[in-house]
Amino acid sequence: MGGTVHTPEGPREVDVQIAGGVITAVGNDRAPEDARTVDARGMYVLPGAIDVHVHSRDPGFPQKEDFGTLTAAAAAGGVTTVVDMPNTVPAVDAAGVMESKAALARRQARVDVGLWALLRSGTTSEDLEGLAAAGAIGFKAYLGYAFSLTRKQVHYSPDLDDPDLEAPPDYGTLARLAPVIAELGLPLLIHAEDPGILAAFRRPLETYADLLAARPAEAEAVAVAAAAEIAGASGVRLHVAHLSSAAGLAAAQEAIRAGAPLTLETCPQYLWLCDDDFRRLGNAMKVYPPIRTASDRDALLEGLAKGVIGMVATDHAPHTDEEKAAPFGEAPSGSPGVQTLYVSCLELAKRQGDVWRAPRWVSEAPAALAGLQESKGTIAPGFDADIVIVDPNKATRVRADVMRSRQRHGALDGMEFGFSVRATYLRGSLVSGEGRRAERPSGRIVRPFRR
Ligand SMILES: [Zn+2]
Repeated sequence: MGGTVHTPEGPREVDVQIAGGVITAVGNDRAPEDARTVDARGMYVLPGAIDVHVHSRDPGFPQKEDFGTLTAAAAAGGVTTVVDMPNTVPAVDAAGVMESKAALARRQARVDVGLWALLRSGTTSEDLEGLAAAGAIGFKAYLGYAFSLTRKQVHYSPDLDDPDLEAPPDYGTLARLAPVIAELGLPLLIHAEDPGILAAFRRPLETYADLLAARPAEAEAVAVAAAAEIAGASGVRLHVAHLSSAAGLAAAQEAIRAGAPLTLETCPQYLWLCDDDFRRLGNAMKVYPPIRTASDRDALLEGLAKGVIGMVATDHAPHTDEEKAAPFGEAPSGSPGVQTLYVSCLELAKRQGDVWRAPRWVSEAPAALAGLQESKGTIAPGFDADIVIVDPNKATRVRADVMRSRQRHGALDGMEFGFSVRATYLRGSLVSGEGRRAERPSGRIVRPFRR
């Protein structure tokens, strides 16, 4: 009580009442006599963030991260739901794999977890129906990424002579399966880098400039335009993950103007950093698609300010410190980020003149994408009491020693944001903050409401 609450009608100084894990009232009604109260005077009371782009690494690479460390980092950062990418091992390409992964996640999760499913070139309509019935949030296509049939693993490879490798999903795969996905009422996600363009620019990576030359912005623009065309024709909701360039944004804007059902996501690392930061950060900022130039960053900031880009997710993708310490060309790409999503977005929104936009980017819009808009993303009666209390007068400095993820150094290292997460509640129960950490997993597996 006593805080400023982000409500559908805007920020209001009201109390939020909770019973049985659900919000029962938002207003100034008297609380029941026996109610326990939380003093939130001077604080912001926000809906828990839903990070729709995380890589738990679990199962497959628990030395990098697992559901326990991932969701502990999420809880510490005010993220109450994570939606995990399907490129774990075995990759989530069938209902049975999804069910085992859900069981694994449930045993460790400190926050709620949703699961994306993998779209392969060999995926059938029956596979999609099975995955949807098993609770898939939607389907992710990694353009250009082949699939190892023996190791059940996704990896980037132009070497299609290898009989173990199934060809990557291409625009034909998308066109064939988009109508089925549309019928299922779920979104189609793409990793948007055109493989033909990447193959043409392949080179050894010695400098940061090599990385930018090897993965140029036109690869993103071409993939967005092509996939948007397919979405327009089939009616499937298309979501572009980790948009990174001005050219990609322009292609998306064009497609939206033409009526394509498209949503766009970018990540804090593309909004706060540019190629110049490599001198300071080194491999910590090696991610795919790459962090590009200052003008790309500024275009993405403008896209976010204008609402063309509707949401921010993290592409939280940890590796071990040893792996990230390899020479630039060999170091794996990816950075942790889930713990700093909310504070970094609050700071961006404040600089754009309206701090209350941040919950829309990280909670409301992601809830709609993930089909969770009936239960999450909003502070209103009937919704899950996934609530974050943020101190707007206490800064967070991104430092390795406070990170809960297994990889402690990330792309935002050293930055300072003028907000801090004081407490995170999942369905009314404290899961982080006030000197406490959630040691007992209370997260659940969430399933989408299918339109
Ligand atoms: Zn990713």
